[in-house]
Amino acid sequence: MTPEDRRSFITTLPLAELHRHFDGSIRPETLWEMSEKYYSAVPGLDYESFRRYLEWDDKEDKSLMDYLDKFHVPLQYTQFYDTIKRVAFEIAVDAYADGVRLLELRINPLIHRRAGLSNRQVLNATRKGLQQFQREHDDFQSGIVVIAMRSHGGNMAKILLREVLGEKEEYHSSVGVVGFDIAGPEAPFPPLLFKDAYALARQMGLGLTVHAGESEGPERIWEALDNLGPQRIGHGTSAGRDPELIKRLAADGVIVEVCLSSNIQTGAIDDLRNHPLPKFLDAGVRVSMATDNPTVSSTTLSREYELAMELFDYTEDDMRRLACMSGDGTFLGAGWLGGGRQEGQT
Ligand SMILES: [Zn+2]
Repeated sequence: MTPEDRRSFITTLPLAELHRHFDGSIRPETLWEMSEKYYSAVPGLDYESFRRYLEWDDKEDKSLMDYLDKFHVPLQYTQFYDTIKRVAFEIAVDAYADGVRLLELRINPLIHRRAGLSNRQVLNATRKGLQQFQREHDDFQSGIVVIAMRSHGGNMAKILLREVLGEKEEYHSSVGVVGFDIAGPEAPFPPLLFKDAYALARQMGLGLTVHAGESEGPERIWEALDNLGPQRIGHGTSAGRDPELIKRLAADGVIVEVCLSSNIQTGAIDDLRNHPLPKFLDAGVRVSMATDNPTVSSTTLSREYELAMELFDYTEDDMRRLACMSGDGTFLGAGWLGGGRQEGQT
């Protein structure tokens, strides 16, 4: 199969994205426009150079620090209600154009409050942006996953959860908060610190996912499974080194959100050919293909599918199964309606 054949086959699949961060998915051209609007355009900087601050470049970027650096520039603009709403809308537009028919967008409201918005207003703006797009597209579903920063600690995570209760999906006619996640540095802030927060999120009826085993070893995934009871694990790459853990993930039906490009860029794995995706699938672990951060990673979800197909020599049937499985773990109340996408539609 040629790369063109792979690409055109993948455009026929209905895609579901369960792991995409708001901050890593913003259009560079929107940020460029805003840099002029908010008087922060760097004199003499052209658009191509500006993009270098936002998108991964295989030639220039090498480390986790290079990856994390890409999140600095956007944050000065995503502090205002209208900007957040616009960005959420555009993320939905771009996802849809790439073939995504179910989108869970995750956002940490606390880092968007520098101009005085409340946590709830940040989520409300995100919700309105997604809703605006969803209203015009019957074959598109979306929801929000709230992220608490690990570095803010377990108590802040609980406060955040209580504050955002009113933005839950069930209290709104369409889009709302459907899930809870923790993200940020793993080593100093282990899952155990968030046991009460996850218990509260469960009580609130939210779906539970947790970034784990990305920069830390499999013991952190065990800890997350034993203490937080998530239905999904974000990345979970280090599980590839622990056959017992792989069995546990399969037995519990826990879904691993797999983000190939992100994993190689952040150094979670040393070589894409060593990614545990095939091990997961062979052992019966459910997975969900995802981008993590399309802008930062310079990728799209369809490109991640192409990458998997090419790397592991997957057949069209394998890819169809992967696409079906990817939406099954959604936290959206209505579930993954999938399959609504017509052949060749983009
Ligand atoms: Zn992530």
